[in-house]
Amino acid sequence: MTYRTTYPGGPDEPWDDTVCFSCGCDLPDEDPDPENGITGVSPWWEGYCSEPCRKGEPVPTDESQLKSLDAYGHLTYTTGYSDEENDAKGVYTERDMGDWLACFDFKVWKHPSRGVLVAFHVVVNSDSGGFTDTLESSVVEADKAPFSLPDYWTGIGMDDGTPWTEQECKDANDCQERWEADLREAIEQAKGGE
Ligand SMILES: [Zn+2]
Repeated sequence: MTYRTTYPGGPDEPWDDTVCFSCGCDLPDEDPDPENGITGVSPWWEGYCSEPCRKGEPVPTDESQLKSLDAYGHLTYTTGYSDEENDAKGVYTERDMGDWLACFDFKVWKHPSRGVLVAFHVVVNSDSGGFTDTLESSVVEADKAPFSLPDYWTGIGMDDGTPWTEQECKDANDCQERWEADLREAIEQAKGGE
């Protein structure tokens, strides 16, 4: 039997826990560098995914990007229905079915080794339902960007059979168009001269 050093997170280990020492992104498991094998120092303990990380340039984490999203704060992209006007007037109609508003936000940035990334979230508010919840939140690569997210959620909002007014439908279409255009533009900008 030949003695061989087992490196933490290395190819001898059944799990892959090799991450960039700076940004924490996943690194591929590689065979130990023979020099490090001799010194017994794991080449993974201080592995970096890229030059910027090696130099210690700050790379935003997925968590911090997700936390910076604020769809329900700025209400730039929203789709939904409400009977607020009727409620304010004290008028009750067959449309008196409460309210439902889906709000969207995204952030695009370039990661030094993972490429252009998109963080996004969906916050749904319903005063009549008494909740404001983040129902979807994720970080994806730019080629998997959720361009049709507002349309998808408009579909969910229409599922319960509440009739949307013409204006609400128009606003939903408008939200979808702006979202898609702004997201594409942000991705193109982040890609820069690629
Ligand atoms: Zn890194």
